Parts: sequence; structure tokens; C-alpha cells
Amino acid sequence: MPFGRDRAGARVVALAGGVGGSRFIRGLHLAAPAAHLTAVVNTGDDLARYGLRISPDVDTVLYALAGIVDDVRGWGPRGDTFRAMAALERLGGDTWFRLGDIDLATHLRRRELVDAGQTPSQVTAELARRLGIDGVTVLPMTDDPVATWIQLAEDDRWVPFQEYFVRRRADVPIRAVRFEGIERSRPAPGLLDAVGTAHLVVLCPSNPLVSIGPILAVPGIRDAVRTARSRGAVVAGVSPLIGGATVKGPAARMLRELGIEPSAMGVASMYADLLDIYVIDRVDAGLASKVEEQGARPIVTDALMRGRPGERRLAREVLRAALGPAREV
Ligand code: GDP
Repeated sequence: MPFGRDRAGARVVALAGGVGGSRFIRGLHLAAPAAHLTAVVNTGDDLARYGLRISPDVDTVLYALAGIVDDVRGWGPRGDTFRAMAALERLGGDTWFRLGDIDLATHLRRRELVDAGQTPSQVTAELARRLGIDGVTVLPMTDDPVATWIQLAEDDRWVPFQEYFVRRRADVPIRAVRFEGIERSRPAPGLLDAVGTAHLVVLCPSNPLVSIGPILAVPGIRDAVRTARSRGAVVAGVSPLIGGATVKGPAARMLRELGIEPSAMGVASMYADLLDIYVIDRVDAGLASKVEEQGARPIVTDALMRGRPGERRLAREVLRAALGPAREV
């Protein structure tokens, strides 16, 4: 199934969080510009702050695809300033969740659109259009409110995800994770159709617990991926862990603290019912036979995405493994 030039005709769905997910999706878009690409993005990290509604992973994916993301941080617009936050602080505002000035425009506009009655997926489509994103459909996992909560080990207190991640810098041991509202949530419009007609579903190199976890926990999504597999679609995962460590973020320590092996294999075990293909780094080559035992085909390669060329290369390897070599003409 090589499809046409630049993978024309291929339908690809990528489940993603923020930083790792957005990089891989950008790679997919570069490697298969003619494919029909749908990004399904985690909204469990969303929060209300300063009267605004902030959707960090969706915004990271939008900024990355629009070519305006700060590539060093991996999130937020490049060259953003924080003058509004400084002014807010002076007025006595609590600014532990810092929003840049350019970023603020996104949240102000989202607020306006939500107040005008638009759903999160409609808002996302409008922001994507205005940011000039073409050829990728960005969908929040659900239009319903879902909130990731983290239980801290120090006092068993449950805190909203961003309080753990930003305020406590993910530097405290955790005991459990839960997704409030998940039972009542429904997949965003178009999501199940996209999975249902996909040739390839990718679990991006994102945090398995708090990025991919909530997406797969929306009732119907995990089943849809399994069903897609049984009708011949390929499901590929890319390990976010390399040599037992994260490239960025707290995934490894969160896994350890929750009793899951902090390795590429620990992540694979969370996707055991889903994977046809699993990409691991060369330093983890020793895990390839375990991946096979779990029933997936291991792809051992350089799993680190260095800049745009690195993103495109890794995406191309996944496309080749899943769909066969690309047709050149
Ligand atoms: P967040 O929501 O912003 O935390 O972003 P994600 O959940 O999408 O991504 C976080 C994960 O991306 C971390 O576990 C990182 O290890 C992983 N990641 C970031 N860059 C790379 C990379 O170049 N290669 C791989 N394999 N994983 C990466």
C-alpha cells in the first residue's frame, strides 16, 4: 500500500500530547504532505486561568504546525514576551501559570469563541485556519470537560495536573492519576470516522500516562483503534523513552512512581492490545525481542528527533514500516 506521490490517498491519525506529539506530527506532515492527516490531541491538561480557557497541548500542536512554536522550549510562540504577566504580578495577580503576550491572544480569542457558543473542536478548527494550517485536521480528543488530576504521595492530596506539572515542576512523587469527567466524555465530532477509515494510527512519542492515556480513556476511542486494527489498519507506537529516560518532561519518573517499568517496554505494555509496530531507540535494541513477544514488530532506529530533518526522518521510517516504501513518481 505505497499510495501516491507524497503518500497521496493515505489516511493517517496521530494521537498526541504537546511537545513530543507535536514534533512527530510535524514530521508526519513533512514526510507525507499529500496524506490526509488527523491529529487527535489530549485535553486533560486544559485549565481555566485568568478567566481564560487554556488548552496547552492543542495550542502546542497548532503552533508547531503553523511554524511559530518556540523550538527550544517546544511550546509557546517563538519570541514571545511576558509583559502582561509582569503587569499582572504588579497588580497582585498570582502568575504561577505564565502566559506570554502572543500566547494570550490565542486564549482571548478562544474565550470569545467559546462565549459565542463554539465547541472546543470548532474553536480549534478556527484557530488552525487563522494560523494558516493546511493539510492537517487538528481535533481535541473530546468537546466535553475532562480534567487530569494527580495524587501527591506527600499527603495524598489530589491536585489538578498543571498544579503538579507547572507549580510543583513535576518534582514531587505521585501516587495516582485520574481523569475527571472521562466516563461522560464523547470523542470529538469526526474523530471516530477518522480512526474508522485510517490506514495508519500512530501513538506519538508522548507521555503515555497523561497525554496518550486520557485520549485512549475517552469511551470509544481505544475500541475504535482496536477495531481499525482488526480491519487491517496498522497501529504504530513510538517510544517517548530512550534508554529509560525522557527527552523532556516527567514521564519516566511518573511511570516509576506508579509502579510501571520506566522504559520503552513499560510504555509498550500500556499499549499491549494495540500495537502492530513499535519504534525504539538503538540504545534499547536489547528490548526488541520483548516487543516481539508482546506481538508487535520492533523498529530499532535513532528515536531522537533533531530539528525538522530529524522529525521527518523518524516519521518517514514509521510510514515505511507501516505502509511500505513511498512511491517516488
Ligand atoms: P507534553 O504534553 O508537552 O508533555 O508533551 P508530550 O506528552 O507530547 O511529550 C512528552 C514526551 O515527548 C516526553 O516523554 C519526551 O520524552 C517525548 N519526546 C520529546 N522529544 C522526543 C524525541 O525527539 N524522541 C522521542 N522518542 N520522544 C521525545
